[in-house]
Amino acid sequence: MKFCFKPFLFLICCMGFVASCNTKKEVTLVAEKNSITKPKNIILLVGDGMGLSQVSASQFYKDSKSNFERFPIIGLIKTSSASELITDSASSATAFASGIKTYNGALGVNLDTTSVKTIVEEISEIGISTGIISTSSITHATPAAFYTHTKKRSMAEDIASQLVTSEIDFFAGGGSDYFTNRKDNRDLILELEEKNFIMNLNSLPTGITTDFSKKQGYLLAPKGLPKILEGRGNFLSDATTLALNYLSTNENGFFLMIEGAQIDWGGHDNDADYLISELIDFDNTIGVVLDFAESNKETLVIVTADHETGGFTLGQENGDYNKIKPVFSTTGHSATMVPVFASGPNARLFGGIYENTAIYDKMKSLFFKNNEN
Ligand code: MG
Ligand code: ZN
Repeated sequence: MKFCFKPFLFLICCMGFVASCNTKKEVTLVAEKNSITKPKNIILLVGDGMGLSQVSASQFYKDSKSNFERFPIIGLIKTSSASELITDSASSATAFASGIKTYNGALGVNLDTTSVKTIVEEISEIGISTGIISTSSITHATPAAFYTHTKKRSMAEDIASQLVTSEIDFFAGGGSDYFTNRKDNRDLILELEEKNFIMNLNSLPTGITTDFSKKQGYLLAPKGLPKILEGRGNFLSDATTLALNYLSTNENGFFLMIEGAQIDWGGHDNDADYLISELIDFDNTIGVVLDFAESNKETLVIVTADHETGGFTLGQENGDYNKIKPVFSTTGHSATMVPVFASGPNARLFGGIYENTAIYDKMKSLFFKNNEN
């Protein structure tokens, strides 16, 4: 028996080994298949001026757990523009929207001021819906880069008129002045309504909108929206919910850009309370987006920043390592790399250190990826 038992045991072990190899192989194949599944929707959240210390503030100043901790993939981007080591929001948003490095102040144009296609224009051609939301004017640099081609970011009235002819299906933010109170006396609200928009200059609708036959535009302040500290409330989260309800009705998918614009403004003001309250509002909006994406399962979520503002750090106070003192080193932007957080189908592509233009490259390749590969 002894002689038989050992080879038998050996055989059993071998079979077990082969079986476990096969199972592992299958599991790997399934994982690979899942990981290369093309996302139907992409949501890009931009925290303007949000460096790593700004993100870290959510850990110390937010009552509930930070939503940044829900992301499995983290990367870093290099943000210099074509003209300067330190970028502004226009050239960096153009990098996200069009995949090029351009000069500071440029929106959707290259160094020669020639227009370059935006991802909104490209994906609209294949039937994907698009939306933009910001706590600034909708004509401000970050949202504008997704629908305009303007050589200077300060040309707000020109930018507004380009929104009318753009492919954007949903927008929410401030900036009504640039649509109604114009030098050329055009009424862009009327023109938007003629382009099948339901326009609202007062408030976001309460309750769920069920008429999805029309596009939606919300301009809720003459210029930028109020600060959180001055009563903006849940605009960013609520507009996001509204956009998700509307855009997700498109079978072909959607792209939504959501900006926490005033994290930057708190940084420029060297006002830690302003900055942190805006950061927490942005964090809450990330929570809304991740909740949607986790149940939807076909949505890639990317959170990043255009640059850091304020040279913000969480220092210690008078040698007391139990007291955090937020400090600033500049009233402008800084050159530091900024974080990228990704979750959902193909999120793994967003790990590593790369140029800000690669955010566009990766998003575009995913939107245009063949379903089978
Ligand atoms: Mg901005
Ligand atoms: Zn700024």
